[in-house]
Amino acid sequence: MNAIYLDNAATTKVKPEVLAKMLPYFTDVFGNPGSVHAFGRSAKLAIDKAREQVAKAIGANASEITFTASGTEADNIALIGAAIRNQKKGKHIITSAIEHHAVLHTAEHLAKQGFDVTYLPVDADGIVSPETLESAIREDTTVVSVMAANNEIGTIQPIRELAEIARKHGALFHTDAVQAVGSIPINVHELGVDMLSLSAHKFHGPKGIGALYLKKGVRVDALEFGGSQERGLRPGTENVPYIVGLGEAAELATRGLQEKAERVARLRDKLIDGILERVPYSRLNGHRMRRLPNNSNISIRFVEGESLLLTLDMAGIAASSGSACTSGSLDPSHVLLAIGLTHEIAHGSLRLTLSDETTEEEIDRVLEVLPNIAQRLRKMSPLWEDFQFRDKNSDNSNDKNSGRKEQLCTLN
Ligand SMILES: *Cc1c(COP(=O)(O)O)cnc(C)c1O
Repeated sequence: MNAIYLDNAATTKVKPEVLAKMLPYFTDVFGNPGSVHAFGRSAKLAIDKAREQVAKAIGANASEITFTASGTEADNIALIGAAIRNQKKGKHIITSAIEHHAVLHTAEHLAKQGFDVTYLPVDADGIVSPETLESAIREDTTVVSVMAANNEIGTIQPIRELAEIARKHGALFHTDAVQAVGSIPINVHELGVDMLSLSAHKFHGPKGIGALYLKKGVRVDALEFGGSQERGLRPGTENVPYIVGLGEAAELATRGLQEKAERVARLRDKLIDGILERVPYSRLNGHRMRRLPNNSNISIRFVEGESLLLTLDMAGIAASSGSACTSGSLDPSHVLLAIGLTHEIAHGSLRLTLSDETTEEEIDRVLEVLPNIAQRLRKMSPLWEDFQFRDKNSDNSNDKNSGRKEQLCTLN
């Protein structure tokens, strides 16, 4: 039995077609794109083509695409670059409580530099309502950043409505679309965004390459200084093979996207319904319908997420968890807490993210082994014991075991 990879929100496999396009740019076409000779010109042409491919994937113009070292770097340039650029106008920025750390920690950095940051709350499904933005936005708000789709619970945000509110109030709108691009159709004009981040390794391209869309006319300050590459916004000799890989992956991912997404969503629903049916005291996190086609996130009460991951791994199934331990902190995922889960329930969460290569057989296999694993782990849980005891003696309010909440963490 081959290992089953269901952690595609963390990263994806590079498609062989993408790798094949990249390889010549390490050896044959190795010139510096800034050189005037034929070697350089060929490399420059490859970058131009990739810029067109990325632009086309999101409905933008090639001149609006800046290549970056990662999705994280794109988020940093967008937020810090726009905040600094507009600081004379105001020092208030708005983001959401469930952003990826690439945005959240960047906002915290700006707060330390004297910016005022508002973190919009989300509802129980993880949705940022336009009304909350409307009431938080101020005269001195310069940048609003809300992710297109969440990496943990898959919830898709009403970006068009949110961006419209920002526009009405004269603030720039950025969206971290790293999970969305290549998973759902994304068009910058339909969304009305000023800035958008994407990353190749989330849609079967290589790790360590991303892009920032900056709408024509939108200016942000550079964070790094050097040559004039990427119009000086992201200096440094271009990573030609990876840029080529990003372009190719963007084209491949968006080709026939609707059909691919429908197929993946059907498997996702089979997985979600199957788990909820077979595992008692389990719940789905994130919106049932407004979610990424490849995302399932389930909390299984009285089971510790880390143990679940390790046991699944031994059974050849790669998953992820919102439990705290892998991050080295004691708090569970900020996203799961923001949608209102208790620490205990958040600790028992499991994220299974599919790709267009996931098969029905793989989903069947997970549905076969997961319920047994959950049941086995539950039997070892003191919380489960307490719960059953309390269930049988529901008038027993003397909870002498309430201090037994610590979880066993395997730090890595
Ligand atoms: C993966 C991810 C990032 C970071 O992208 P990198 O290219 O890995 O730096 C940012 N935001 C979201 C939503 C992501 O899923």
